[in-house]
Amino acid sequence: MARVIRRAMVAANWKMNGSKALVARFAKALGEASLPESVDVIVMPPVVLLPELVAGLVDSGAGAGAQDLHAQPSGAYTGEIAGGMLSEAGARWVLTGHSERRQYNAESNDEVATKFAAALRADLTPVLCVGETLEERDAGREEEVVTRQIRDVLNIVDVQDLGKGVLAYEPVWAIGTGRTASPDQAQAMHAHIRAVVAEADESVGQCMRILYGGSVKPDNALALFEQDDIDGGLIGGAGLEIESFLSIVGAAGASGAAKAK
Ligand code: PEP
Repeated sequence: MARVIRRAMVAANWKMNGSKALVARFAKALGEASLPESVDVIVMPPVVLLPELVAGLVDSGAGAGAQDLHAQPSGAYTGEIAGGMLSEAGARWVLTGHSERRQYNAESNDEVATKFAAALRADLTPVLCVGETLEERDAGREEEVVTRQIRDVLNIVDVQDLGKGVLAYEPVWAIGTGRTASPDQAQAMHAHIRAVVAEADESVGQCMRILYGGSVKPDNALALFEQDDIDGGLIGGAGLEIESFLSIVGAAGASGAAKAK
């Protein structure tokens, strides 16, 4: 298969942080910045801030996403939000299976898969998060765990549909810890993930974007994004500071330009 150039992407996951003031700061700065055209730039705030963010980003070239959705389109699910509601609020992207939801909300691989499918039905692009815990890595089981997380989704979601989304490799031990996977560690897992998808469909595997997440900062972003199979980042802490976020977006632009040569 001919060499595939994948579009870079950087998404800020605000988790349960942020305010209208932070939305205003991001909207202003993203509107004024010249964002690299080769990068999808996304901000994922708590859902109540979505309408304000969507309005603020209108002319910026950046997009808005959500952090979770319910698997059903509507119904008696108190406190939950359906994909169609997120779409209506202007979100275009949604995370599925973030490790904090797997950990604190006991989301299984099957539930994550049904949410992935629900996101597609609601015209959202799902970002499927996978990654092993420290215990699993120390036991040498990281590839087995991540493979299972992907194959369980492929039991429910057709590989062509998987390819309509994005993958994010986020080693749990690197999230919010300041401990990043080295570029070599991350590249090795990204290549493995691509091979798992390619086994189901070669073209989807080659075209699928795979983001790295876990303590990405301005000073380590470029070394990670330069890796062949790393197509950008999912950013937590550094995605709450506009200067850091813009610098990481710049790194994605620079690595994309280098890969295109
Ligand atoms: C995340 O929560 O998706 C994440 C990558 O967080 P951090 O960048 O803070 O490690």
